[in-house]
Amino acid sequence: MTENLSIDPRRLRDVEESWKRIRHRVEEAALRAGRSPEDVRLMAVTKTVEAPYINRAIACGADLIGENRVQEYLSKRDKLDLDHCEKHLIGHLQTNKVRQIVGEVDMIQSVGSLKLAQEIEKQSAKLDCVTPVLLEVNIGGEQSKSGFAPQAVLDALCQVSQMSHVRVQGLMTIPPICETSREVRKYFSQMYESFIDIQGKKIDNVNMNVLSMGMSGDFEDAIAEGSTLVRVGSAIFGARTGR
Ligand SMILES: *Cc1c(COP(=O)(O)O)cnc(C)c1O
Repeated sequence: MTENLSIDPRRLRDVEESWKRIRHRVEEAALRAGRSPEDVRLMAVTKTVEAPYINRAIACGADLIGENRVQEYLSKRDKLDLDHCEKHLIGHLQTNKVRQIVGEVDMIQSVGSLKLAQEIEKQSAKLDCVTPVLLEVNIGGEQSKSGFAPQAVLDALCQVSQMSHVRVQGLMTIPPICETSREVRKYFSQMYESFIDIQGKKIDNVNMNVLSMGMSGDFEDAIAEGSTLVRVGSAIFGARTGR
C-alpha cells in the first residue's frame, strides 16, 4: 500500500477541525432558524477526496457521504469505513451507468428526468430492491443544468410514484450562482414552498422527508430556508483541484 506513504498528517488534522467547525455552524444555523439541530443532516461531499481523509471525517462522526461519479465511488469504497455511514450519489447520472450503482448506494439524489427514473426502476427490479431517490429540481431554470423545471415536478412525482422499485424521499437542488445571500435565499425558499406543497398532497408511494440544498458557500442560508440536508465538500476537505 504505497499510497499510504503520501498521507498528509496536517491535512488529516485540517479535515478533523473543519468537520467539527462545520458541524457546529450547521447546528447554530438550525437554532437561529428556530429548528432542532437533529432536523438538519450534514453530508460530507467526498468527490476527488482520497480515502484516508474521508475516513478521518467518518471517524469524527460523519455518517453520510456524497459522491458524484459512479466510477470514482466504486473504486474508492473498499477503502472506506462505511459500516456506520450512508452513501448517496449526488452527481449527474447517465442512464448507462445506472446498472452499476443501483444497490450500491443508499440513495440517488440526482434524478432529474423520467428516463433516468425509468432506468433506475428497471435495474432495481432486476435486483429485487427498492431504490430511494430525490427528484432534482432546476430551480433557476438554467439551460446548462439538469433537473426538472419547478412546474414539472408534481407531474414527474405522480409518474415516478407508479414505479414500484423507486421510492421518492424528497427533493434536491443546486441553485444558480448568486452574488448575495438574499438572492440565493429566494431560490431556497421557492424550493421549500414546493416541498411543503407536495408534502400536503400525500401522494401514494412518495415521501417528502428530505429537502437537500445548501453547499459550502450557502448552507447556512439553506438551513434558514428549511433545508433538511446540506451537502458540504470544500469547506470540510479543502479546495478541489479541477472540477
Ligand atoms: C460538489 C458538490 C457539492 C459540494 O460542493 P462544495 O461547494 O464543495 O461544498 C454539493 N452538491 C453537489 C451536487 C456537488 O456536486
